[in-house]
Amino acid sequence: MKIGEILKHINTSISFEFFPPKTPEGEDQLFRTIKDLEKLNPTFVSVTYGAGGSTRERTIRVVKRIHEQCNLTVMAHLTCIGHSKKEIYDILKGYKDIGIQNILALRGDIPQGQEESFVFPPDGCRYANELVSFIREQFGDYFSIGVAAYPEGHPESPSLEKDIYYFKKKVEAGAEFAITQMFFDNSYFYRYMDLLSKEGINIPVIPGIMPITNFRQIEKFAVMCGATIPKDLVEKLEKVENSPEEVAKIGIDYATEQCEDLLKNGVKGLHFYTLNKSKATVEIYRRIKDLIK
Ligand code: FAD
Repeated sequence: MKIGEILKHINTSISFEFFPPKTPEGEDQLFRTIKDLEKLNPTFVSVTYGAGGSTRERTIRVVKRIHEQCNLTVMAHLTCIGHSKKEIYDILKGYKDIGIQNILALRGDIPQGQEESFVFPPDGCRYANELVSFIREQFGDYFSIGVAAYPEGHPESPSLEKDIYYFKKKVEAGAEFAITQMFFDNSYFYRYMDLLSKEGINIPVIPGIMPITNFRQIEKFAVMCGATIPKDLVEKLEKVENSPEEVAKIGIDYATEQCEDLLKNGVKGLHFYTLNKSKATVEIYRRIKDLIK
């Protein structure tokens, strides 16, 4: 099923993001998680892709296994950085051949330390809007295409307005929906949606929710992707950081409140960054399910 089409017909989508594990044990653990989360009847699930192709085979394998063995709509993330158009074409053709219809089209991060010196492949796609155009050019409407959105602005962008200017190019190239970077203060999301609306952008934008279960790990991610963790939440987490149970309790309570507020404000969906674990997501879902229309 194409996610763009599904989103036209439902009020609120629920989705879960996984990463492709490095080991067979990790993959077994992931499929146990998927089994738990399948019971929540998600609208779709997605599998990340290592920028530069580092997880190419693993991402493809996990996407294929979910497609074949689970009763789930699956979306493959695909980053263009470091790939030639021929490589991108081959990956997409491989997905088409097995019936995968949903792609999250991304640029990927420039490798650390190469921010100034990185050379984009001359025969590749420099930015995500070029990737979206390339997919449309080669495959027409076969794929439903999603893209990334940044309520606090992308870290490389000089301003939120400039980032939205480029976001619009992805929509004009054929993106049908977007999923946001994690954020911990809903006011950023509401401001972002207002700005998109002023620019005449009205594709569904699904908020990405990261339940904090390991404070220092998420703090590191947040710094890397430019997401602000509110000061009072940081202070609460710092007090209990040596107790994983207390951290998870605070993280789950916080994400639940965030989701409740988003649902009350009519969001199109919730996309959970699961980190391949089900416990926090299942618990948040249990608490918010009566609000999901
Ligand atoms: P783009 O939309 O291309 O934007 C990148 C930067 O360039 C922005 O600052 C933008 O303002 C600017 N820009 C865009 N177009 C132009 C242009 N034409 N000219 C000049 N400047 C421009 N990373 C992974 O490696 N694997 C994943 O699976 C993955 N999944 C993600 C899922 C979600 C929901 C999100 C939000 C992010 C994900 N990322 C993933 C991270 C993403 O790859 C990085 O944030 C990356 O740095 C930017 O990718 P993008 O697709 O947003 O890039």
